[in-house]
Amino acid sequence: MFVDSHAHIDGPEFDADREAVIQRARNVGVGAILNVGTGNPHSGALERAIQLAESQPDIFAAVGTHPHDARLFDDQAEERLTRLVQQSSRIIAWGEIGLDFHYDNSPRENQREAFRRQLRLARAAKLPVIIHTREAEEETIEILRAEWAAANLPGVMHCFSGSAKLAEQALELGLFISFSGIVTFKKAQELREIARQVPIEQLLIETDCPYLTPVPFRGKRNEPAYVVEVARCLAEVKGITIDEVARVTTANFSRAFRIL
Ligand SMILES: [Zn+2]
Ligand SMILES: [Zn+2]
Repeated sequence: MFVDSHAHIDGPEFDADREAVIQRARNVGVGAILNVGTGNPHSGALERAIQLAESQPDIFAAVGTHPHDARLFDDQAEERLTRLVQQSSRIIAWGEIGLDFHYDNSPRENQREAFRRQLRLARAAKLPVIIHTREAEEETIEILRAEWAAANLPGVMHCFSGSAKLAEQALELGLFISFSGIVTFKKAQELREIARQVPIEQLLIETDCPYLTPVPFRGKRNEPAYVVEVARCLAEVKGITIDEVARVTTANFSRAFRIL
């Protein structure tokens, strides 16, 4: 059994064939999907993710304000998120949250504040966190050390594409490291080398679909069934069988999110 630890299938990209997408994932052995709700926290986008998780036994939800939307994070968003995580037992994580200085879709000051505040909220709610970081490695680690290290709760560095140093620091913080289709890309030699060194008990797999479609499906829309390709790649990199990757990453997922 595989777990797609990070997917976005509640959005319009999947409106036409969501049921078929979920069925295809089940058919290849994907036993659970963590669907991450993003978007404007005032718009009802998060509720969409929760509804999906409530309608399927093998889909779970995470909610949070993505760094792209950090400018929209305010007291009202905080109240709404807090209420949502209290209301639905299908929400198993707070996220994705973090810093994205590549796109800078929100001012950096807003990103820092939304990240810090949501780490505190996740701590208060006793929920694991899902971290998104891009071109902001040092500040991400700095904030995690200040706001999360003492929480004694699990966390995931998702869609890992950073440096060896970031991986090392994240592992020191006890975080899981999740690899996406990026690790299968021809040019991702360095990332595969990092993956080789991540202890298998801190490894997770994800699609982050609809983006980042793994080889050999590049160019197509990504979907949870393709998480198998990420597992296949990691098996090769680590010199173990794909069954072993499936078994260990599923056990890690259970530990990280305290379910299954
Ligand atoms: Zn992300
Ligand atoms: Zn994502």
